[in-house]
Amino acid sequence: MLGIGIDIGGTNTKLVVVNRAGKLLANERFHTEASKGPAFFLKRLAAAVSGFRKDYGRQLVSIGLGAAGDVDPERGVIRFSPNLAWRSVSLAGPLEKLTGLPCAMENDANMAAWGAYELDLKRKTEDILTLTLGTGIGSGMILGGKLYHGASGSAGEAGHLKIQPDGRPCHCGGAGCLEAYCGSYSIIARARELIKNEKAFIKKFGVPGKEKLNTICLTNAAAAGHAGARRVWAETGHYLGMGIAGLILVLNPGCVVLTGGVSRARKWFLPAMQKVLNAQQIKTPFKKVKIRISDNADLGSYGAALFGLERGLK
Ligand SMILES: [Zn+2]
Repeated sequence: MLGIGIDIGGTNTKLVVVNRAGKLLANERFHTEASKGPAFFLKRLAAAVSGFRKDYGRQLVSIGLGAAGDVDPERGVIRFSPNLAWRSVSLAGPLEKLTGLPCAMENDANMAAWGAYELDLKRKTEDILTLTLGTGIGSGMILGGKLYHGASGSAGEAGHLKIQPDGRPCHCGGAGCLEAYCGSYSIIARARELIKNEKAFIKKFGVPGKEKLNTICLTNAAAAGHAGARRVWAETGHYLGMGIAGLILVLNPGCVVLTGGVSRARKWFLPAMQKVLNAQQIKTPFKKVKIRISDNADLGSYGAALFGLERGLK
């Protein structure tokens, strides 16, 4: 039995076909082109699914969809997605009709959390917190071996925990959010304050052909001993520690999984993050918790496929 996993991001939509063990059999990606509207997107999605069906036929039994934004998992509706600029868009129902396969839909970070639970932890730890560290910060929780939704399906908005009163402005319109310190856009903004000559910095540490300041550039600079870059990462780790410490105190997870592009700079932000966790007064939950970095860049789509299978088989 095989499942299709779909991760709908602001720029790209990724699809995978995996088996129950998470083994990849096929994949595809296309530009989301959200501005062309949900109907156009659904058609494109259905075409990709029927392509898979030609190859795998009745072996395909379910679809899991993860979307960036506020998702109503019960109705399969994107209530609001700033990245896609969509409001009240029903996806799971129409896709079920178009493909004949049962569809489960969740927020993308929830799907990444399910992927971490099944693939990274092999279901051995039942209480886990996953943070997706990218432009923004998402989070998902598996509690007692179940995906936790909260009362309205909105659980896991950890990116907007206030960690600094009257702090930096956040994409949500608020200020002082975790994301306003540890989202890649804010890491870059902080780096700009500390780097004297940005052009020369990019030339020295940037990815050839990509003439812009990004977190890869900052990681390279930290590795080369650049004091400003190391300071940016240490600050990022400090603030991330503040956010995660609060979540650990509330949830007492066995494992915290970090994933997403920013997590690749682990070497440079983890020490400062760990320092904050070690300095907490209530020691027990911090002694127990393991911090893990998942290197699966497609955890969201794998997780979606496995979650769809889990749901489809019930
Ligand atoms: Zn915010």
